[in-house]
Amino acid sequence: EGVQSLTPYQPGKPVEELAREYGFRPDDIIKLASNENPLGPSPRALAAAREALENLCLYPDGNAFALKEALSRHLGLAPAQLTLGNGSNDVLEVIARCFAAPGSEVIYSQHAFAVYPLVTLAIGARGVEVPAKNWGHDLEAMADAVTERTRLLFVANPNNPTGTVAGEKAIRSLMDRVPERVVVVLDEAYCEYLAGTDDDVNGIGLLRDYPNLIVTRTFSKAWGLAALRVGYAVSSAAIANILNRVRQPFNVNTVAQVAATAVLSDLEYLERSREVNRQGLRQLEAGLTDLGLEWIPSAGNFVAVDVGRDGNEVFQGLLKEGVIVRPIGGYGMPSHLRVSVGLPEQNERFLKALKRVLSATG
Ligand code: PMP
Repeated sequence: EGVQSLTPYQPGKPVEELAREYGFRPDDIIKLASNENPLGPSPRALAAAREALENLCLYPDGNAFALKEALSRHLGLAPAQLTLGNGSNDVLEVIARCFAAPGSEVIYSQHAFAVYPLVTLAIGARGVEVPAKNWGHDLEAMADAVTERTRLLFVANPNNPTGTVAGEKAIRSLMDRVPERVVVVLDEAYCEYLAGTDDDVNGIGLLRDYPNLIVTRTFSKAWGLAALRVGYAVSSAAIANILNRVRQPFNVNTVAQVAATAVLSDLEYLERSREVNRQGLRQLEAGLTDLGLEWIPSAGNFVAVDVGRDGNEVFQGLLKEGVIVRPIGGYGMPSHLRVSVGLPEQNERFLKALKRVLSATG
């Protein structure tokens, strides 16, 4: 029944598809639709990945020894607290399979990341969607929604597609209210972009106080390795032991493992990712304000903007300009578009195209 009710995850429209449909050269298209890192990969990660191609006939290290060592050094925790996944989506699914079942309730917010209902409904559990507050998670209402049947509660911090973020105090009061038998997942896919801002929260620092907390993170965003699919969960060793029983034995491939290990030593790349994002966000915010549009302040590498009309129509208009963004009607935001932060010239091209499309559809 849950599977029948699912609609498939809608990824960003691929550049090649648009090129074919409208006769563009792929190089003339800009894609700001999947919250990817516009810098391209870290040269250090790329070199490591190329070298790893020599070993294509061998299985990966099923326990990812080197990557776990590097990650545990980077994060200051024990390798036994880590569970790796084929992207953090994989980790989210493993968590759902471990802790929920038909008859369980899983709590998440309205306008939250689309994979939470997907992994919940796929295992036959019941999704409880709690109305958002000012586009963000209403953590108090989420705590109120806990019942005897609740097994899991997902919080995206920062959230995709709204870019909203909850501070440490709010997360702590949620954790203080949720009974320990409920596993809380703090999805920190975009946390690297918080560094140095007022919103800088770090769920890993809360693990000591809350044994029922799992923090998930990814190499897809600030670390620039989306194609390779590497994500991970950080939790107590007891929870990691459960997750590692259920995950697929070779769920992170060799190329992904060595590239992720290499990029962890390229802190200069991480800093550049943050800087390009800070500047790009400011550029997009200023440009959208100039167009008289309202946007939601974002802590991620994207911004949700209200185009004041059917977002899908504006999305289609932008496609004709060779610009791919993401309509988010499926997230209950039919007049918003989500735009990922690009390089300065890409942001500029998007803003100019948007101006033309808005005046044509006005
Ligand atoms: N969580 C959130 C909030 C996201 O936006 C995304 C990426 N769209 C993910 C998790 C999954 O990322 P990945 O599977 O690439 O690690």
